[in-house]
Formats: sequence, C-alpha cells, structure tokens
Amino acid sequence: MGIYEKFARLVGDREQFCTSGITPFGTCIDEVYSATEGRIGAQKVILAGTNNYLGLTFNADAIAQGQSALAAQGTGTTGSRMANGSYGPHLALEQELAHFFGRPTAIVFSTGYTANLGVISTLADHNAVVLLDADSHASIYDACALGGAEIIRFRHNDAQDLERRMLRLGDRAREAIIIVEGIYSMLGDVAPLAEIVDIKRRLGGFLIVDEAHSFGVMGATGRGLAEAVGVEQDVDIIVGTFSKSLASIGGFAIGGKEMEVLRYSSRPYIFTASPSPSSIASVRSSLKTIATHPELRQKLWDNAHRLYDGLEKLGYQLGSHISPVVPVIMDSKDEGLRFWRELITLGVYVNLILPPAAPSGITLLRCSVNAAHSDAQIDAIIQAFAALKA
Ligand code: PMP
Repeated sequence: MGIYEKFARLVGDREQFCTSGITPFGTCIDEVYSATEGRIGAQKVILAGTNNYLGLTFNADAIAQGQSALAAQGTGTTGSRMANGSYGPHLALEQELAHFFGRPTAIVFSTGYTANLGVISTLADHNAVVLLDADSHASIYDACALGGAEIIRFRHNDAQDLERRMLRLGDRAREAIIIVEGIYSMLGDVAPLAEIVDIKRRLGGFLIVDEAHSFGVMGATGRGLAEAVGVEQDVDIIVGTFSKSLASIGGFAIGGKEMEVLRYSSRPYIFTASPSPSSIASVRSSLKTIATHPELRQKLWDNAHRLYDGLEKLGYQLGSHISPVVPVIMDSKDEGLRFWRELITLGVYVNLILPPAAPSGITLLRCSVNAAHSDAQIDAIIQAFAALKA
C-alpha cells in the first residue's frame, strides 16, 4: 500500500457504493447522438445532466469551422500561449470576446479551471486577503491555495456576512479580493451581485465573478449575471469557460488593460498548452451564435421553467431558484444512487452529486436542461421522475 494507504477509506466507500451496475463516477456515455441524446450501455438516454446550456455541441457551423481549422492548422498547437501556442485565431477570439463584453482585455486560457488558477493565484498572492463564497468551485479554492493568500469564507450567497467580514478587515478591506460565481453549478442559485457591488462601492475591494454557468445563459445579450443585474462596470474581472454554453474547451478572463500583465506573470497561462485550433474555431462560431440568436436563451429558460414546474408538481424537493440547473434533493445517498440508476433504465441521464461535491452534506440529482431539448423531451424527463414516485 505505502503511499496509497491514506486513500483506503475513500477506496472502501467507493467500492461499497459501486457494487454493481453502471457507476455514477466517471459514467461512460458510450455514444453521443446529439446535444440531447446518447447511449449508456444498452440504454438510449435523454442527456439531462450536461453543461451544454445552449445545445451548441452539434451546431452545424461550429462543427464546420472546427473541421476546417483542424485541416488548415493541425490537431494541436503543442505549446503554451506564452511560447509557441498563440495562433492568429487565439488572438482574434480574444478581440471578439473583449468586443462582446465591451471591455479592453480578454485573455484565453486552456480551460476554465486554469483561467481561475491563472487569474486568482497570480493576483491573490501571499500578501493578499480573499473573501470567497463558501460554496465556491474547487478551481477557486485551488487557485487561492496556489497563490498563498489569506482566505476568508463568507456564508453562501450571504451579502451581510460578507459585509461583516469586510468591516472586520478595517483598512485592508480596500485591497481585498472578493470572489463569487454567477449561477452556482449544483443548486442553480445566483450570487446577490447587486448587494455585493453595493458593499464594494462603500468598502472597496477588487471583485472577480466566475460566470462559468451564467455566460450565454443570463443577461439581455448573454454576457452573464453582471449584465443581468446591470453592474458590469463594477466587476473587475469576469472569468468564464468555453466548456459550457460555448460547447468546446478552454477558458477566458475579461478585464481592464492592466490585466495584460497576467500574460507574463501567470504561471497557469505560461506553462500549459493552449487550446487546439479546432476548439478555438468552434468557440468563435458559438460566440457569434450566442450574439445573434437570443431565442436560444429564451428556449433554455422556457425549458428550465417547464422542468422545474413539472418536478415541483410531483412533490420533489428542488433548489430555491429556477434556472437551467434543477437540483432534485434526495433523502439519502442510497436513495440518490437508486433513483439515478432507475432514471437511466427509464432513459434519462442526470448527475448524481454526493457530498462534498454537493453543499451542506446533501445528496442531489442534478438535472440540467438546454436549449436543444424539445418540450416532449422535458416531459419525458418529468414522466421518468413520476415513475420513480409510483
Ligand atoms: N468555474 C466553475 C464555477 C465551474 O463550474 C467550472 C467547471 N465545472 C469551472 C470553473 C472550470 O471550467 P472548465 O471545465 O472549463 O475547466
């Protein structure tokens, strides 16, 4: 055993949980037919547990652009943004993103995870103090650990708790870094951004918002929660990902001119390979689609309401917010696993989320809708949940 001994409990728990059948950890989707359908084992399923919010993974133009970039520029850049991995389209995409947000600077990273790592670990060094929402994504916590900043967690979505903790910092509050997310990925709830911006206006601070799950989803033009709330000018840096609404892989940060310094100071920007040309080409296509097809966002929200209402009528305990992420709260881990497996046999794939991935020790079935789901598919998801109650 040796070095692996410390994992004995984890391994034991997992083995006990995955005694037979399809495992909820690293589930293999054997075939993907479309943005909404796939096959797991012998079972054809509706994909109701993805982050493909606008359903663009099979968009014809995104595929065509990706294919032609693959043929023209090759399979990969084989180098980092800093060295040999910045091609013309990477820079063009940065300009397009900056233009879309109406801000001076956009930087493309290799993933959303490295975007958070790259921005936060570099700015939040050992001299900094960071106030972060307790339910922050792992990449935000990891970034703080890498940077070595002092971390102060405030209660999830509790602006008053943030303010109390800011006040305790005295003069240091002016330089503090505040980090929140747009839509939280597990419960589908959103940060109280107007209140947080009000605190920032009074007490100071540098505000970073991770719009991974809200970009393309919220705001009149899809720029996210800050746009929806009308506070974009108060947000210093927006971090995002290409792996959700933009249906590809990569990450980005949007900010002022001063943010350019990250290009030669941020280790997660400098020391990892850049996204492949085909990924970048697909993202550029999807960004155009987001800008020109607001009806996709409308359909996404219609689907979110349809699913939420349907599950609520069945008596399920859901999250407090209606959003494209619809969490169905389970009584226990065992019930979660049983329901998750039965849903697959009924032709519906959702995500089983166990603590600590789910907050507050709860187990939930994370359902998510996208703009490509038809009404009939949403109804089929509701029917499957109804069958579980029968
Ligand atoms: N931030 C948040 C809030 C996320 O949920 C995720 C991914 N689940 C990331 C960042 C990382 O994004 P990526 O998958 O592009 O690494």
